[in-house]
Amino acid sequence: MTKITRREFALLTAGASLAAASGLPRPALAAGPAKIVIIGGGPGGAAVANRLKTASPGLDITLIEPKEKYTTCIRSNLYLGGFRSFKSITHDYAGVKRRGINVVTDTATAIDTAAKTVTLARASQPLPYDRLVVAPGIDFKYETIEGYSPEAAKLMPHAWQGGEQTWLLKEKLLALPDGGLVVMSAPPNPYRCPPGPYERACMIAHFLKTRKPKAKLVLFDAKKTYSKQAVFEEAYDEYYKGIIEINSTNEIDDFDVIKVDAKTGVVTTKAGRTERAALANIIPAQKAAAIAARAGLTEGDWCPVNPENFTSTKANDVYVLGDAAIANDMPKSAFSAVSQAAVVAADIIASLEGKPRVSGKYRNTCWSMLAPENSAKIGGDYVPATKDGKPYLEVKEPFVSQPGDSAEIRRQNNQESTDWYQTMVTDLFGEPPMKAER
Ligand code: FAD
Repeated sequence: MTKITRREFALLTAGASLAAASGLPRPALAAGPAKIVIIGGGPGGAAVANRLKTASPGLDITLIEPKEKYTTCIRSNLYLGGFRSFKSITHDYAGVKRRGINVVTDTATAIDTAAKTVTLARASQPLPYDRLVVAPGIDFKYETIEGYSPEAAKLMPHAWQGGEQTWLLKEKLLALPDGGLVVMSAPPNPYRCPPGPYERACMIAHFLKTRKPKAKLVLFDAKKTYSKQAVFEEAYDEYYKGIIEINSTNEIDDFDVIKVDAKTGVVTTKAGRTERAALANIIPAQKAAAIAARAGLTEGDWCPVNPENFTSTKANDVYVLGDAAIANDMPKSAFSAVSQAAVVAADIIASLEGKPRVSGKYRNTCWSMLAPENSAKIGGDYVPATKDGKPYLEVKEPFVSQPGDSAEIRRQNNQESTDWYQTMVTDLFGEPPMKAER
């Protein structure tokens, strides 16, 4: 047994009180050495691992993640805007390992839900499980944009998965000639982080305003309406007039990007408008990460789950959470994934102990930075319900920032988002709180 440090103890007890607040049972004594395998070390997977280990230290928990370091998409727009460093949004798994979780740096290539095993790219033997948690995030529907591909994304980064892509987009922004044109394309619904493209537009525009004042940003959108639209529109007008041009799909034109040429930088919309970008940030349509479809856990592009506890409707003893799952009104966000994780962990323990299964309540808040010290938020509670005779996760008590909010409210939102991020990554990755944003 390794000795628990004072800091680890503080983190564990913090996890326990969070668990209690979310309805997770106190340490389960009778769970025994059940094998829990978790695919994906993002907010969804890492949070389930930590909640389980805190509640039931005897469980044998394996977290499979191909990357040694996880760069969060959260705050990545602020990195583009110049408000954070790359280092401050990148986290390793040392803290997760110190909690006694077996972190395997590998890729799950197949799941056999009948034999209850997971095959890994590099391991010689499949990994058996009693309960499997699938939290692999998203992949892209590259085929929806002619000329776009993983190779083209090296020239026209999406930066919609954290890591190299995030870094690449920032490098290209830094290299942009003053007077250059940046073209962004926002994806169709549903996609990860509904307000994310518009926060990104604000952060790129802030970067241009402060570093390349002659450059411009054109945004093409496949949608007519989007999250927090009124406050974003107010911000474009107030802070970025003459820098951002927003085009969204309407009756006159169709601003869905359907074709790109990564070599020349030409971006073409459905209605035939073309722009030659000095830098293109193409965010394509999305779907659950490939392993989910390969394992037969999808219906269409995403994974159906029971809203009570995120058990898969496609396989026994399998949970799908985070961006890969169909969560109805609940948006695809890290906040959502962590909220779902508390319920998943509680239900795993209940199922192992033969206790009544969990019916969860969930919560989400998404903050977006509009300008320095100015952030807006949207969110709500989410409860299992029925819609058209089918199980459904329904929003209750939704809230959203309004245009004309005072500067003090926006400053408070901004502080909340900073504090939330630091608390979350400390909880997920076991890092000490940082004194400063950067
Ligand atoms: P991920 O974070 O994608 O993690 C999945 C992990 O699974 C990955 O690390 C991947 O490497 C791994 N994986 C995939 N396939 C396999 C496999 N076969 N085997 C093993 N591992 C695998 N959310 C917020 O709450 N607040 C924000 O402010 C916010 N801002 C955002 C800004 C931007 C620009 C973007 C793009 C997103 C933002 N989000 C935000 C959304 C948030 O990043 C996602 O909702 C969140 O990361 C989802 O967590 P996840 O665990 O489901 O998936």
